Amino acid sequence: MARHLITSAIPYINGIKHLGNLIGSQLPADLYARQLRARGHEVLFLCATDEHGTPAELAAAKAGQPVDQFCATMHAVQAGLAAGFRLSFDHFGRSSSPQNRRLTQHFAGRLDAAGLIAEVNEKQVYSVADARFLPDRYIEGTCPNCGYDKARGDQCENCTKQLDPTDLINPRSAISGSTDLEVRATKHLYLRQSALRDQLRDWITTRVDWPILTTSIALKWLDDGDGLQDRGITRDLDWGVPVQKGDQPWPGMEGKVFYVWFDAPIEYIACAQEWADAGKGPETKKGWERWWRTDKGAGDVRYTQFMGKDNVPFHTLSFPVTIMGSAEPWKLVDYIKSFNYLTYDGGQFSTSQGRGVFMDQALEILPADYWRWWLLSHAPESSDSAFTWDNFQTSVNKDLADVLGNFVSRVTKFCRSKFGEAVPDGGAWGAREAALVAELTTRLAAYEACLDAIEVRKSAAELRAIWVAGNEYLQAAGPWVTVKTDAARAAMQTRLGLNLIRLYAVLSAPFIPDAARQMMDAMGCTDWTWPGDMAHALTLLQPGHAFAVPEVTFRKITDEERADWQVRFAGVRT
Ligand SMILES: [Zn+2]
Repeated sequence: MARHLITSAIPYINGIKHLGNLIGSQLPADLYARQLRARGHEVLFLCATDEHGTPAELAAAKAGQPVDQFCATMHAVQAGLAAGFRLSFDHFGRSSSPQNRRLTQHFAGRLDAAGLIAEVNEKQVYSVADARFLPDRYIEGTCPNCGYDKARGDQCENCTKQLDPTDLINPRSAISGSTDLEVRATKHLYLRQSALRDQLRDWITTRVDWPILTTSIALKWLDDGDGLQDRGITRDLDWGVPVQKGDQPWPGMEGKVFYVWFDAPIEYIACAQEWADAGKGPETKKGWERWWRTDKGAGDVRYTQFMGKDNVPFHTLSFPVTIMGSAEPWKLVDYIKSFNYLTYDGGQFSTSQGRGVFMDQALEILPADYWRWWLLSHAPESSDSAFTWDNFQTSVNKDLADVLGNFVSRVTKFCRSKFGEAVPDGGAWGAREAALVAELTTRLAAYEACLDAIEVRKSAAELRAIWVAGNEYLQAAGPWVTVKTDAARAAMQTRLGLNLIRLYAVLSAPFIPDAARQMMDAMGCTDWTWPGDMAHALTLLQPGHAFAVPEVTFRKITDEERADWQVRFAGVRT
């Protein structure tokens, strides 16, 4: 048994996430955490909301709330949706926590002491009417290249040209529309990432087991063009972690905060501290350090991060610079699982444009397991994958209703009608049963290998094959025919079918936890032991053990529903 630290990329606070966000990190991380726990490993699974920065300030202003109150409200909303999707975080923290504030300031102090922080005087656009410096993307104007009149200060969306705010013709504040803009001098801290370029390359090129998607993105950022650039880690904002060197003031940086990208990944560490401080672990307050400090017991921890591909540069380069540059024994990530994008009906899911299906809407129309199954079995691993309502309906109806749900229904209803609601006695396994045990033994090993490798789609395919094997057995054995001539043999076949339901509950729980619980409850069983010896696992429910016929485990999505949802989710969310 090993100890596994698992983090999902932390979602930004300013809205409800869509299904593309969900399958891009939180949901596969949950699958990984659940299957490891089920197989007896010690797991700490953490996620949080990413709360600082200008978009949160602007969303709060739009909602007419102080930003701290807005974030508290949205954190509760996101936590509720995470619970709705059965995401089994040990703690769902907040990057605005006091723990993260202290740790962020601590790391900045350590990096400065190591000579990895540069103070840079620069000029930035200041909006007099808004009384604030404007980040590049909050300056709008006419593109000098194509004439588009809503080009942003960092890029023209129309012609994709990279811009500098001073390139824009007739620049204005995207917040207030004011043209009363000035260029003012300000000072910022830069993280000297370039100084650790060789150290990063040595580290990344020895991660030979990482997915190509992860290492290729990392190496591109490391070496393309002029190579890895130093990055500003401070901003002229009110909402954020105040700039300090540890617990000491930082002369010349008064009134500034750390840039959100610097403090957000540090929340992975702070979140463990929040978890311990909240008394959730069986540990002392310092107990979180055994997950994060290699000098305090984290030497045997395997740390796995989950994220969408857009987050890879921060996790392979910037955050490791923070960790390595601190010269303290913090745990570095062991494995990064990154994902491509899920597309929606031929286009992009988009939070800003409200396009696609969002987590709250999804749960309004179907239970979490339907979404979990479709999303995980179609995870965008080797390439982008496409959500369409046709595909969703087909997969759910075939895999969940026809294969798994139908098996559970047939076995339990047949048993009730012929033998009553208890596991029937009599008969003994023959060649067909031995063949099934052998097949399931092989398939279980394949399933476990895919789960260990975090091959999400392949894991789903292996699980489905395990369900299919039971169906094929039942079809070939045909207890509803056998019972007419050999009641004892039919009882044996039915007994095996009931044991298969329990086995399916255990093996399916990482994917579809609610249905798994329903199946286990129907079997009147609380033994969630992951199967070791297959023959043993298929004889756990002994003759005479009472069970119940469950309500329909999975219902089919009708053509009318599919057509209705296609129309309802075709436009943009308002
Ligand atoms: Zn343009």
